[in-house]
Amino acid sequence: MAEPELVDVVVVGLGVGGEEVAERLAEAGLSVVGIERDLVGGECPYWGCIPSKMMIRAANALAEARRVDGLAGTAQVQPDWAPVAKRIREEATDTWDDTVAADRFTGLGGRLVRGSGRLDGPGRVRVGDQVFQARHGVVLGTGTRPSVPPIDGLADTPYWTNHQAIEVEELPESLLVLGGGAIGLELAQVFARFGVRVTVVEALDRVLAVEEPEASEVAAAALRADGVEIHTGVRAERVEHDGTRFTLRGSGGSAFTADRLLVVTGRKAHLTELGLDTIGLDASQRYLPVDDRLHVTDQVWAVGDITGEGAFTHIAMYQAGIVIADILARARQASAGADASGTSSVVGGAMGASSSLAASGSSGSAGTVPRADYRALPRVTFTDPEVGAVGLTEQQARERGINVQVGFTKLGSSTRGWIHRVGDDGFIKLVADADQGVLIGATSVGPAGGEVLSALVVAVHAAVPLSQLRHMIYAYPTFHRAIESALHDLS
Ligand SMILES: Cc1cc2nc3c(=O)[nH]c(=O)nc-3n(C[C@H](O)[C@H](O)[C@H](O)COP(=O)(O)OP(=O)(O)OC[C@H]3O[C@@H](n4cnc5c(N)ncnc54)[C@H](O)[C@@H]3O)c2cc1C
Repeated sequence: MAEPELVDVVVVGLGVGGEEVAERLAEAGLSVVGIERDLVGGECPYWGCIPSKMMIRAANALAEARRVDGLAGTAQVQPDWAPVAKRIREEATDTWDDTVAADRFTGLGGRLVRGSGRLDGPGRVRVGDQVFQARHGVVLGTGTRPSVPPIDGLADTPYWTNHQAIEVEELPESLLVLGGGAIGLELAQVFARFGVRVTVVEALDRVLAVEEPEASEVAAAALRADGVEIHTGVRAERVEHDGTRFTLRGSGGSAFTADRLLVVTGRKAHLTELGLDTIGLDASQRYLPVDDRLHVTDQVWAVGDITGEGAFTHIAMYQAGIVIADILARARQASAGADASGTSSVVGGAMGASSSLAASGSSGSAGTVPRADYRALPRVTFTDPEVGAVGLTEQQARERGINVQVGFTKLGSSTRGWIHRVGDDGFIKLVADADQGVLIGATSVGPAGGEVLSALVVAVHAAVPLSQLRHMIYAYPTFHRAIESALHDLS
C-alpha cells in the first residue's frame, strides 16, 4: 500500500461546492488536494444551470417575438436550434472541457488529482493507488446524479437524462418528459418553443408539486399554451423502444409515444461509493446528514446536493462559505497553538500556510463561523412565467401548527401586469405567521418572478415585521409593487 501523503485538506468532488472550498482554501495558503473524476465545476456549468438557462433565454426570445402580434405589429419567428447548441458548446462549456477551471484551481496553488476519491479511514482519502492524509480534514462535495426509477424496460433503452438534453445538436420531432418537476418543466417548455411536440408525464397529481398549488396551475397553463401536453397522476409502468421510437405505458392503460424520452425524476447521491464505512458512517442513507457547520463527523465536512438541504447551486455556494470559514478558523487555531509551543507549523507545507493564513486576515475563532440557516431558502423554476418561492408553503406552515395568514394577489390586477398584458400570468402569495407578525414563506410567479422574489427573501430572512412591510414604498409601476397588494390581502 502506498505511503499516505500529508496535506492540509482533501476535497472529494470539485462541483460547485467542492470547487469553491478547494479554491478559497488554496488561495488562503493551505495545501489542498482536489479530486475530480469528471469535469471541474460539476453539473451546474456543463449540464445544469448555465446551459439550461442559455436554452431558456433563447426560448423566451422566441416567445416574446410571438407576442409582438397584438402589441407592436407582426413578427415572423423561425426557430433555429443551431445557435443555441453552438452557444452551449462554445461559450458555456468549451465543448465540455474544464481546462479553464482546472487551471484556475492549480493557479491558486491547489493540486488537482483526476479520479474517483473514497475515504480510507479517518482523515484519509484514496484515489487510484494514491493515498492522502488530511491534517485539517476532508470535504465531500460529490453531488448527485439523475435518479432513474426502476421502470420495467427503461434501463435497456437509449433514454436521455439532463446530459443528453443539454448536449443535443439536433432536436427530435417529439419528446416525452418523464417528471414534472422544475428541470422537467424548464426543458419541456424550451423544446416546445423550438417546435418539438412535448408530452410531460408526472406521477403526482400536479406538476411542480413541491410548490404552492396555484403555482402548479399557472405553470401548467403556460406550458399548455406553448403546446405541451401534460398528464398528471400517471405512474409509468413500462418503457419500450423499437429502435426508433419510445412508448411509455402508464397506469390506467395510458400509452405515450415519442422519438425521445427524457427522464428527469429527481437526483440521487451515491453514498456507497465514498467509503463512509471506513469512518463508521452509514452509507445506506439517501443523503449525508450534516450539522449547521456542515460537519458530517469530526474533520469531515460535506457541501452541496449531497447534504440533502436543497439541490441548488446557491445552497452549495452558501454551505461552501461556512466550510471555508470553519476550516480556516481551525487552521489558524492549530497554527497559533503550534507557534505558541514553538513547534514547526502544522498548517504548512511548502507554501508556509501559517504565515499566509495570518496575512490573509481570515476570521479568527470557530465562534465567529456562521451557522447554516435554511429558513429563507429561495428557489426559482425558470419557466415563463418564472416561479420563485422562499420559505414555507401554506400547507407546510399549517402542518407545523403555525397560526397562518395568507395574502394573495394576481399580477394581472397590478398596474404593471395590466400594462404588460400578454404574458402577465402570475401572482404573489404570502404566508405569514400571525402570532409573530412576520412572513415565513412567499411565492412570486410572473415574467420576473425570480427577481421579484428577492424582496420576499429579505423579508423572510430578516423576519421583517409585517407592519414595516406595509409601511414602505414600492416603486410604481413595478411587478414587485404587487407585494403591497398581497400584504393588504393578508387576513
Ligand atoms: C438541468 C439542471 C438545471 C439546474 N438549474 C439550476 C438552477 O437554475 N439554479 C440552481 O441553483 N441549481 C440548478 N441546478 C442544480 C445544480 O446544478 C446543483 O445543485 C449543483 O451543481 C450542486 O453542486 P454540488 O457541488 O453539490 O455537486 P455537482 O455539481 O453535482 O458536482 C459534484 C462533482 O463531484 C464529482 N464526483 C462525484 N463523486 C466523485 C468521487 N468519488 N471522486 C471524485 N469526484 C467525484 C462529480 O464528477 C462532479 O463533478 C440544476 C441542475 C440541473 C441538472
